[in-house]
Amino acid sequence: MNGGLNVKEKLFKWGCCVDDLCCLCNRETKRADHMFLSCEYSCRVRTEIERWTGRVLPTVNGLINGNRKLVQWKVLTAIQNAVYYNIWMQRNNDRVNEMILRPELVAQQTKDAVMRRIKFNAGQISDQHGLDWMRNIGV
Ligand SMILES: [Zn+2]
Repeated sequence: MNGGLNVKEKLFKWGCCVDDLCCLCNRETKRADHMFLSCEYSCRVRTEIERWTGRVLPTVNGLINGNRKLVQWKVLTAIQNAVYYNIWMQRNNDRVNEMILRPELVAQQTKDAVMRRIKFNAGQISDQHGLDWMRNIGV
């Protein structure tokens, strides 16, 4: 978020790689804000997640200003964190293994991880509206 990620753009400037294209979409210059927010690959992951939840994922500001007591806020925050983490992991997967998973698989991994986390903590939830919402998304 503060531009500290050692992205390909910096490596390109230092002459450590042949191009500065995003490894996820191979189209635009790779910067952290592109990778997490505007990359076509990341958008496809988020679209799959939004299809699952039936909601548009909130922006970072939306999460910061949201009602932290609501179950939906907690679940959407967990989802957003998992989306960012799994996109970042694919960037690392490209760098280390020279391969990336299809966005649909990344979305499924994200969904599975969030579902496990929610089920682990579901016993602590007493908000009926939140529980109903979670049932609607298959938890
Ligand atoms: Zn991209």
